[in-house]
Amino acid sequence: MEIFHISAECYPVAKVGGLADVVGALSKFQNRGGHLVKVVIPCYDLQYTRENEFQSVYAAHIKLGKFNFPFEVLKGKDKKLGFELYLIAIPELFDRKEIYGYEDDIERFLSFQIATLDWIVSRNSFPDLINCHDHHTGLIPFMMLYAFKYEKLQNIPTLITIHSSLYQGQFGFDKLYYLPDFDLSHVHVLQWNNQINSMAVGLKCAWAVTTVSPNYLNEINYSGNGLESLFSMVRYKSKGILNGIDTEVWNPETDIMIAKNYAVDDYVLGKQRNKETLCKRFDLDVTKPLFSFIGRLLVEKGADLLAATVALELTENKKEINILILGSGEAQIENQLKKILVDFEGSYNVYIGYNEELAHLIYAGSDFLLMPSRIEPCGLNQMYAFRYGTVPVVRRTGGLKDTVIDIGDTNGNGICHDQASVSDICSSIQRAIELYGDKEKFNSIREIGMSLDHSWESAYKEYIEMYNLIIKKI
Ligand code: ADP
Repeated sequence: MEIFHISAECYPVAKVGGLADVVGALSKFQNRGGHLVKVVIPCYDLQYTRENEFQSVYAAHIKLGKFNFPFEVLKGKDKKLGFELYLIAIPELFDRKEIYGYEDDIERFLSFQIATLDWIVSRNSFPDLINCHDHHTGLIPFMMLYAFKYEKLQNIPTLITIHSSLYQGQFGFDKLYYLPDFDLSHVHVLQWNNQINSMAVGLKCAWAVTTVSPNYLNEINYSGNGLESLFSMVRYKSKGILNGIDTEVWNPETDIMIAKNYAVDDYVLGKQRNKETLCKRFDLDVTKPLFSFIGRLLVEKGADLLAATVALELTENKKEINILILGSGEAQIENQLKKILVDFEGSYNVYIGYNEELAHLIYAGSDFLLMPSRIEPCGLNQMYAFRYGTVPVVRRTGGLKDTVIDIGDTNGNGICHDQASVSDICSSIQRAIELYGDKEKFNSIREIGMSLDHSWESAYKEYIEMYNLIIKKI
């Protein structure tokens, strides 16, 4: 079947977090499974878009209210990605270094959605299904159903995948005129809490909804950032599908971003070499267990608890451990983490910024990966950690609950706690230190993690099953 994935991010082209990894890998494995997959994202001013070749396949203007933007659809010539990549180039709105965070994000992503549909409707043949991802593409199912100029797309099934309900793309009805003309008897569909809410619209209008883990689907029914009742209403057409990982990109045997490759039979030595490289680079003590954190420095990730955890562990608790943090996000959290650097030299370090290579080295060289998340719709880091023989230390929430089993339970593969608090994180660290001291048990837990199969090879089929269900409804 011909599948379009429409998204704001896609690895390796444009990545902020897990959305990119999922869109890139899911598409690759669906394509490999015999489907024709096209990924459509905006054309940002990023390294990938600058360094690769593209061919222009469509050019026109989009109308956004009183604005008129020229745009082009660029098709990637690179066959390595494993799917067809299409970039929507609207220079005035997307020729920028960052993916999100601009005042005109609403205008940017609305234009992206309109340009994408203008192009799709202009083609000679239509896709079998359109998979939208998060709020940046949430208005697409609505426009396909009710905008006059997209009437020909009305019968194409749509599915929206919710990667996080935290960001919903709300805006006021004063911008209603941005939307292409549509049947006004359906204007109420746009409304949620007196605003146009892109995610809510996607939930209402898409033929099916998926979330990135089964447990997250349950959680958003009572903790869905104001969309709880809507998530319950659309439950009948929803399914939680656990994300997979790209086991080719994330493979310690072949990963060119790490210091020493290793497999299940030589991981002890391999990990040790990577740990030495990491400890040397960050002035840490290689003889002590290394706890790391990788991610966006936000309250939802529990990153606000990290500085206090470091301080408590390394002073009052006098723990003989290293803590290394890689991330960027809220300025206040970044500052807290930088400020304590002088106090804990030799045992603690932080890298503020985004660094894909360093992330790979940290998964390879760490003993434990901290994930004290308040919200974690799926979480990929714990799956990368498993694959690299690093034991995840997590708060039981969202997809972490679906994937990490405490070492006290049968088939345990990680360490879990329930509260998003410094004391809960510290008691998990204490249990991790004890595990680290018992080398036989520590190794058996690492081996359990490394032998888990979280590849997309099987997970992508769940999406295809869901697509088939809704295609049958036509
Ligand atoms: P989210 O999408 O909520 O940020 P996920 O666990 O789904 O969380 O995905 C996070 C992805 O982003 C992983 O691939 C992780 O390695 C990567 N990542 C997050 N922050 C950084 C960073 N500062 N540098 C490099 N990679 C990062």
